[in-house]
Amino acid sequence: MKYRIAWMKGDGVGPEISDAAIEVLDSIQERFSIKFDVIFYDLGDRSKVVRGSALPDDTIEGIKSSDAAIKGPVGESAFESIVAVRQKLDLYANIRPARSYEGIPHVGKIDAIIVRENTEDLYKGIEFEVQGVATSLRIISEKATRRIAKVAAAYAMKRRKHVTVVHKANVLRVSDGLFRRVALEELRNSDLMVDEKYVDAMSMALIRNPEQFDVILTPNVYGDILSDEASQIAGGLGFAASANIGDLNSLFEPVHGSAPDIAGKGVANPYSMVMSLSMMLNHIGIYKSDRKAIQASAVISSVVEKSIKGGTLTPDAGGRLTTREVGRELAKGVREFVQT
Ligand code: ATP
Repeated sequence: MKYRIAWMKGDGVGPEISDAAIEVLDSIQERFSIKFDVIFYDLGDRSKVVRGSALPDDTIEGIKSSDAAIKGPVGESAFESIVAVRQKLDLYANIRPARSYEGIPHVGKIDAIIVRENTEDLYKGIEFEVQGVATSLRIISEKATRRIAKVAAAYAMKRRKHVTVVHKANVLRVSDGLFRRVALEELRNSDLMVDEKYVDAMSMALIRNPEQFDVILTPNVYGDILSDEASQIAGGLGFAASANIGDLNSLFEPVHGSAPDIAGKGVANPYSMVMSLSMMLNHIGIYKSDRKAIQASAVISSVVEKSIKGGTLTPDAGGRLTTREVGRELAKGVREFVQT
């Protein structure tokens, strides 16, 4: 099979960690009989300067016509670029796994997935200022809540069958009230253990006992904040990957930003991008019923786990390797992978 991949390298550390992940993708092509037609597109701050738009038309068309898309982080233009892509293409499910690994210091043991509604809430961006008063409108709809609850249920069924619905319905009675009611309604007749937490209590519980969580279902803004917290608990932003999934398109990306403080130094942690690549292959495998793509994703995951344990790490995780060296080692690991 040959798949068309739209790749946006993005800003800051984006090009560096993209290049490392491309090396891993090349090793997958050598190892498995899957081919990828990778087409590069502009997105983000640099694109805004060079092309006059953070999200040029050909980029959005390229993502639309791809089998899957993957991007590095973008800088200040995130709202005009990635947030816009999510809304334009209705990529309504943001999936952010947080998993601690042996070999990197973590705040607590965690193996959870944050399932975040990705198109509504305050990030709809309906804001205005009148006479020194700024107002933001918070949109939470029944349709979007129901479909994200279905996604959370599907993930939980394949995992430990536990969903925690996170909201603040005691204060935001109408908007979070709707989210809570519809999510619980949707999950009620499933085979799942379902509980709920206020978002403030959740941020505390995640630190106190992260191991208790499996699938965390939440509106957009809480999910954005909690997923940074969860990834820090797991071992840092450099290991945090994510997926944006819609019914027609998908886009994979690291959770972190463009990390301008370390950009260009060759020390950015590429695991976030490589793990995003692994999520992308798994998604392609499921949607195209391609066992090889699922297998390729699993091989990357195994190599990642082994490499982290073996100390193939950049300085942010206590290692001494450069971004490129880690990418090379991971690619080598895929080529030499032996199933045990
Ligand atoms: P932005 O405005 O684009 O979100 P930021 O610096 O505010 O950028 P992040 O880019 O998420 O936010 O970075 C937060 C911190 O985490 C920074 O100190 C950054 O260097 C570090 N960091 C983020 N990603 C990585 C990575 N892949 N490898 C190493 N450190 C990283």
